[in-house]
Amino acid sequence: MTATVSHRNTCRLCGSKDVRLVLKLQPIPLSEKYATDQDTAKAEQRFPVDVYMCADCGHVQHLDVINASDLWDSYTYFSGEAKGMPEHFAQIAAKIRRTYDPPAGSLVVDIGSNDGSLLKPFKAAGHRVLGIDPAKSVARRAIEAGIPTIAELMTPDLAGAVADLAAAGARAIEVVPVFLGQGGHVREDLPRLVDAARARHTGIELRLTHAAGEDDAVLDAIADYCERSARR
Ligand SMILES: [Zn+2]
Repeated sequence: MTATVSHRNTCRLCGSKDVRLVLKLQPIPLSEKYATDQDTAKAEQRFPVDVYMCADCGHVQHLDVINASDLWDSYTYFSGEAKGMPEHFAQIAAKIRRTYDPPAGSLVVDIGSNDGSLLKPFKAAGHRVLGIDPAKSVARRAIEAGIPTIAELMTPDLAGAVADLAAAGARAIEVVPVFLGQGGHVREDLPRLVDAARARHTGIELRLTHAAGEDDAVLDAIADYCERSARR
């Protein structure tokens, strides 16, 4: 399998272009992909794991981004098999239940739920549970153990949604980012994704509006909501 990796030049958190290499490391193979013999192991594709820091916000991060499906589609780490983890999760679940005292039957959602190990004690205590994990192999294990799990990345992605709309005959698409603020994702990632979709579907007029939270009417509605909440 050949995985794809791309290098970004801006901070993942604030979008600053002033990101600096602070720790150079040797490239490593993908985790949880085990070779059966030494020669295969040595020939494994390796990926950069250099560490960068943003000079503006201080966020320490990797800037080499590996394609998500290459990372997760055949992931083999099962958290329930790691020594001490089920006991640890049972303690976390007990602490959460003590702290928040959720009513019987309330829904507990675990994002990045692996094999459902954290949700099992919640289910045993009478809660409804839902796991979400992109690794299909571990999600399957959770489902077999009675923990309902959605095994997907955030879908559909923009490219997929535009392709579906194009196939359905759409001529114009307005992309409305339902974010409260214009963070790095809206400022940096979204225009790049929209440009790529435009290049792929030249017959469609594709427009990108500003973040919903920066619209005056939405801000007025939020202010009104805050005032009413304060009076309650
Ligand atoms: Zn930053």
